[in-house]
Amino acid sequence: MVKICCIGAGYVGGPTMAVIALKCPSIQVVVVDISVSRITAWNSEQLPIYEPGLEDIVKQCRGKNLFFSTDVEKNVAEADIIFVSVNTPTKTQGLGAGRAADLTYWESAARMIADVSTSNKIVVEKSTVPVKTAEAIEKILSFNSKGINYQILSNPEFLAEGTAIQDLFNPDRVLIGGKETPDGQKAIQTLKDVYAHWVPEDRIITTNLWSAELSKLAANAFLAQRISSVNAMSALCEATGADVSQVSHAVGKDTRIGSKFLNASVGFGGSCFQKDILNLVYICECNGLPEVANYWKQVIKVNDYQKKRFVNRVVSSMFNTVSGKKIAILGFAFKKDTGDTRETPAIDVCKELLRDRARLSIYDPQVTMDQIQRDLSMDKFDWDHPVHLQPVSPGTVKKVSIVWDAYEAARDAHAICILTEWDEFKTLDYQRIFDNMQKPAFVFDGRNIVNVRKLREIGFIVYSIGKPLDP
Ligand code: NAD
Repeated sequence: MVKICCIGAGYVGGPTMAVIALKCPSIQVVVVDISVSRITAWNSEQLPIYEPGLEDIVKQCRGKNLFFSTDVEKNVAEADIIFVSVNTPTKTQGLGAGRAADLTYWESAARMIADVSTSNKIVVEKSTVPVKTAEAIEKILSFNSKGINYQILSNPEFLAEGTAIQDLFNPDRVLIGGKETPDGQKAIQTLKDVYAHWVPEDRIITTNLWSAELSKLAANAFLAQRISSVNAMSALCEATGADVSQVSHAVGKDTRIGSKFLNASVGFGGSCFQKDILNLVYICECNGLPEVANYWKQVIKVNDYQKKRFVNRVVSSMFNTVSGKKIAILGFAFKKDTGDTRETPAIDVCKELLRDRARLSIYDPQVTMDQIQRDLSMDKFDWDHPVHLQPVSPGTVKKVSIVWDAYEAARDAHAICILTEWDEFKTLDYQRIFDNMQKPAFVFDGRNIVNVRKLREIGFIVYSIGKPLDP
């Protein structure tokens, strides 16, 4: 029986390994993590991440050929294939701070593999890493090789949170990069055989190591660039009376461009886009390509501009002040169908509104109160203007309330900001909401999901991204 061990039981490691276990009953899969609380949650009824379809798969496979463990060393030592799916955040200090990928977790995983291994291993880069990382990993492993043959493969993950299971079941492609040596090709074939259990052969692409590593950064940069392109266009639409949805539709009909990923919004978020572009920028700079670095930097600048533009629109529409006004925040996750708030635009929007002394009432169907508290209270901002984050209790005035219902969030509010495109926000009883709000009642739709005409008929003043303003 082939044994797989995945180091890192996060948003990537958990779902990818659950799907491998489901599709490959003959393979034993152990997902390990240094976080005891994460592994405890994976072994419980309350999984540590929300992802549609995931719970069913875990229930089906856990205890059969899928295991979650904190015993990292033992499981690594016993594995034939080791996926490394640890976090690779942006460095916060030292050389390359604010741009380069922090490979601390990767390096410690590699050193541990070298320490505990006693048999040949295929080490698979699942995390998103800078191009040439495999070279560094090889150095670490070979220094302590004890005669062991390590083959390093790059197998970046392209799943999107919120649709992870669907993406894993039916991937556009599986990319495997490896060495062109006979051992490298043999390792590629071993990994191909795993995916071949459910992925059609023509969707499994093999390349050299550096192409695979760079392809992941390139794919995220292209996706984020598309969002910034349409968001930049949305600003021009607002200035000219064009409608960004109509422009996107017309542009997307060109088969060379395509219609996906052309929705204007308050901006992109998530743990990957910004970090991976910053990483790309750093790599360009290190390779003496400042013009290319500047090109990609612009994608992030436009994203920051879009978030700022949204807040400015809120404040300027509400007679240039939100001081003391209650604003309902509908949605805090960076996208629908996930509880992940990493780099969510909601953090920037909420903080800006709080700086302008607004009162916020936040509702998200999947984000916990702890997450919101952590996300809104961890920077200098709180030093200057302490924010008291507590659940709403009738009769008290709090700067931030976290509530469990959209109607409760909007009660007595002066405005609603929709920051995540949750389906339930499309079908709310907006008449009921309007009746219980202060007047004039504003809706700022940061995801362009509401029926603008209907809401205007009810009496709302509606602002959507890149669309003509209220008559
Ligand atoms: P995550 O933070 O959710 O999970 C990483 C896990 O690795 C954590 O639970 C952490 O405790 C664990 N870990 C760190 N060092 C460890 C060690 N030495 N031993 C054992 N466990 C260790 O991160 P994620 O979102 O799953 O992302 C993982 C990687 O995949 C990143 O490089 C990311 O860029 C990439 N990626 C993420 C997504 C996504 O949608 N989240 C998609 C594609 C690729």
